[in-house]
Amino acid sequence: MAVFLTSKSTIFQPILRNLFKVSACNLNLLEYQSKNLLEEHDIEIQKFVLIDSPKDIEKNLKQFQAKEYVIKAQVLAGGRGKGYFDNGFKSGVHITKDRKAIEKIVENMIGHRLITKQTPKEGILVSKVMVGESVNIIRETYLCILLDRQANGPVIVASPAGGVDIEAVAEKTPELLKVTPIDINKGVTDEIASEVADFLKFSGDLKKQAMKQIKNLYELFVTADCVQLEINPLVETDDNKVICVDAKLNFDDNAAFRQKKLFAQEDTSESDPREIEAAKWNLNYIQLDGNIGCLVNGAGLAMATMDIIKLHGGNPANFLDVGGSVQENQVKAAFDILQQDKNLKAILVNIFGGIVNCATIANGIVNASRGTKLRVPLIVRLEGTNVTAAKKIIAESGLPIISANDLEDAAQKAVQSIS
Ligand code: GDP
Ligand code: MG
Repeated sequence: MAVFLTSKSTIFQPILRNLFKVSACNLNLLEYQSKNLLEEHDIEIQKFVLIDSPKDIEKNLKQFQAKEYVIKAQVLAGGRGKGYFDNGFKSGVHITKDRKAIEKIVENMIGHRLITKQTPKEGILVSKVMVGESVNIIRETYLCILLDRQANGPVIVASPAGGVDIEAVAEKTPELLKVTPIDINKGVTDEIASEVADFLKFSGDLKKQAMKQIKNLYELFVTADCVQLEINPLVETDDNKVICVDAKLNFDDNAAFRQKKLFAQEDTSESDPREIEAAKWNLNYIQLDGNIGCLVNGAGLAMATMDIIKLHGGNPANFLDVGGSVQENQVKAAFDILQQDKNLKAILVNIFGGIVNCATIANGIVNASRGTKLRVPLIVRLEGTNVTAAKKIIAESGLPIISANDLEDAAQKAVQSIS
């Protein structure tokens, strides 16, 4: 994905920060899934087939004929063209006229890790490869629609210098980037579509095609609850067509309830299984590398808890926000997830009962401690609604739970319990 964080241009900074946030937390789809969506919205893509096992190449390619083929590893990261595999094979994007060569290329991709500028150091395991009809590219442009905080709505970011790293364009030649805010009530008008197509240097019939696609892309952006839709490159071909060669779409997690079909496509093969399990229980869990497990209600309190653990010389093992209306069974699930961490040495529960009833949490803690056989010290700080009853439940449980009076006390006790 394009993250122009290196850009020195101040106008783009808010957009760049948004892009970064977008990548951190929203649903991402693989290129082939994104392209299926584009096709549904009457946007030009190349014909393709998907291969998820080298054994099935023959079968999958049977109905597929092209003069030239493009073979692309499907991973949730950009920069594939310039990437390399852990087996030494170069590039996640290959072009060949030789049908027989496809098999070797696919074999070199599936089951191997692709490393690009945008992947973790160890790369991402490739389990699917797209084989498409290659197009002869005359020119590559860049088009992205995203939600921008400063514009209070969607903006179109366009550049006639596509294909390459867009962050480099933002830094070195910001005049080649155009940001157009879109009025959410009016959408992309003919006038806006025409301006953007002109900026991308499409003229004549190509301009007509580009305008139609810009409008359709915006329509898709809105109806699918996207937070970002990036086409890099949007190309002009030697047979006078405008085609989306690459697509990267991110969707607003808050819209999951009305985009069930989209969210069901999420590829979780590379996610931490604990994070997936936590999501099933409606818990916000992020694995960290320390050894004090945290169970907290509210993201702000979770951050403060992590800070104060660090202040006292400890290291949080995770971020876990159980939310405002947490139930007993979620507390049990949270304990189970925390205990899957081999590094875990203590658990600190820090609950501020506003909406949540401390007694519910106390019962959850007691039942979970009995049910899951806690193997590490448990420090509990409860405050707020029904706290007296909650403390009584814990005290009378007979379990070796260490009670704390406030956040500071809790952090100190957690750090002491492991030193
Ligand atoms: P990325 O590297 O992950 O962004 O993958 P892209 O799909 O954007 O491909 C990288 C580059 O490969 C593009 O910018 C194009 O220059 C080239 N490329 C991709 N698909 C084709 C194709 O069908 N034909 C040709 N000739 N080049 C392609
Ligand atoms: Mg690309």
